[in-house]
Amino acid sequence: MMNRRELLRNAAVFGCSIPFLGYCSRTSAIETFSLDSDIHKFTIGEFQCTIFRDTMWKYLAKDYFINADEVDLENALSRYNITPDNIPSPFISMLLQRGNEKILIDSGIGFSEEPLVFRGNEYVFKGQVNHLLAKEGINHSDITDVIISHFHPDHIGGIFSGKGNLNFPNAKFHTHQKEWDFWHSPSSENQSPLFKIFVEQNTTPLKDQNLNLINGDFQEIIPGITAVVADGHTPGQIALIIGSDKNQLIYISDAFLHPLHIERLHWQTNYDFDHQKAKQTRIKLLELANENEMMINAFHFEFPGLGNVEKVKENWKWNYLQS
Ligand SMILES: [Zn+2]
Repeated sequence: MMNRRELLRNAAVFGCSIPFLGYCSRTSAIETFSLDSDIHKFTIGEFQCTIFRDTMWKYLAKDYFINADEVDLENALSRYNITPDNIPSPFISMLLQRGNEKILIDSGIGFSEEPLVFRGNEYVFKGQVNHLLAKEGINHSDITDVIISHFHPDHIGGIFSGKGNLNFPNAKFHTHQKEWDFWHSPSSENQSPLFKIFVEQNTTPLKDQNLNLINGDFQEIIPGITAVVADGHTPGQIALIIGSDKNQLIYISDAFLHPLHIERLHWQTNYDFDHQKAKQTRIKLLELANENEMMINAFHFEFPGLGNVEKVKENWKWNYLQS
């Protein structure tokens, strides 16, 4: 495990600057982000919850909102103080603790030893989930469960180290059967080569581990944690309902990438596998959260991505939780 000083030294090798390197690209403009406030803690039901900010990424409006009306988009982006060429987004990981249980939801992008190519650019990923777990005094071998919402790199990259060692040797791994089947079938052949590499390195070897492949659309996988199929973004993405009764949080993963996808349900993203299913899932999750007064955690929203939704006539409104 590298410490922060070593991480920074490693970053310096690639010409990136402090305070902390989220990621760097050696063939495009270098981006740095301050990750000083990268841990957020709260409780939900019986669980002590910690959200870690793994790193930051920069998305583009042309990928995020592919069918948006130009003028409407421009106005909407300015309300969020963002420009079409820079939509900042965190990658996160969530730790739930209850007695001896230490349950990790998603694992961040990981820490790549070698540059990886994505859309023509070379990247060296510097996810810091493993570093932050250590900083919080959490032993990797004490993690009892790892829940994987779906198989995109920013959610699975931290399961194995760059050298191929399992980072959570005593954990039971949970993911949906449909997600597993898609990525391990010819149907995924046209997916990005980088995505395929991440799947092969971080999920395929789990077949020899304690692996729970979830079946069904709505299933309790650990007492107090229910997996809900949230497909569309990928064929087997799951959302997670955490807690009980009126004290619940729903982890929606990538069903929504930005609050504007809540306000404009018909705006599609390049990152969704099936637009029609993605929209159906969005409506299902909004109704579920609203009816049950759930707090929401959205992986890619402004860190820590906590808030709730309200229905105003036929439209939905996202409210960030004031911390
Ligand atoms: Zn994601």
